[in-house]
Amino acid sequence: ESILELEGVSKRYPVDDSWLARLRGTDRYTDAVDDVSLSVVAGETLGIVGESGAGKSTVIDLVTGLDAPTGGSVRLDDEPVEALADRSREQVVSIGRLFQHPRSSLDPRQRVGIAIEEPLVEAGWEPTRREERIRELLTLVGLDSRHADRRPDQLSGGQCQRIALARAIALEPALVVLDEPTAALDVSVRARVCNLLMELQDRLACAFVLVSHDLGVVSHLADRIVVMRDGRIVETGSTAAVCTAP
Ligand code: ADP
Ligand code: ADP
Repeated sequence: ESILELEGVSKRYPVDDSWLARLRGTDRYTDAVDDVSLSVVAGETLGIVGESGAGKSTVIDLVTGLDAPTGGSVRLDDEPVEALADRSREQVVSIGRLFQHPRSSLDPRQRVGIAIEEPLVEAGWEPTRREERIRELLTLVGLDSRHADRRPDQLSGGQCQRIALARAIALEPALVVLDEPTAALDVSVRARVCNLLMELQDRLACAFVLVSHDLGVVSHLADRIVVMRDGRIVETGSTAAVCTAP
């Protein structure tokens, strides 16, 4: 019962495919992701760790169907990702950008309640059901309806992350991908968000993929870890095994 399955996935970008380079046979490519296979089962948390340029963002784009692989296959809930319509894909997978620029991941002009409501509107939920769900989500992430009328700059960084998280889990997707490329928050806020994530792991049935350059954050939360370098998986295993490796 894999919720996400990558099989031999590659993404090749042209570095120089100008007509002249092609004419002369000197065209060059870079493999942002190179023959990556991994799977995530229901309810599990997988960490994807790697330094800048390792291919993490590219993997996210491929998993969420934002981009198509140049090789291999991506399956979500046993369907090829390219076969899913936007609407049904959003029911399976959602992405939360939490740790990177917590405020900028939200629309600065939009009251944060609207940000949480958006996916519910897109999924066609009736107003009364939306109201109920928004209250439920705010409670789940440790906020209340007073916060819903504020704009991102009227909330703290930690609160903005909670809102981004509430939005990501709004439709209770089977898989939530959390992207945190630069972990630019101070230590105490990060610790609290980690604790909140642990709570949500217990309370929600969804699987998480945590993408980070910071093994420290991920090691607290992930069941298994995949380490990427130069587009390839260089290490994979249980969090304990990966973290104690020499
Ligand atoms: P990470 O998220 O781990 O920092 P990325 O997935 O952003 O890594 O990038 C992996 C590699 O692919 C990098 O070398 C990057 O320069 C390259 N790359 C990513 N996107 C593109 C693109 N659109 N065009 C060309 N090269 C790209
Ligand atoms: P957190 O630990 O959740 O990030 P902070 O210590 O940053 O919280 O902020 C504490 C309180 O200050 C919060 O209740 C928040 O509502 C308020 N606050 C923080 N930043 C702002 C801001 N730019 N405008 C208004 N209120 C703010």
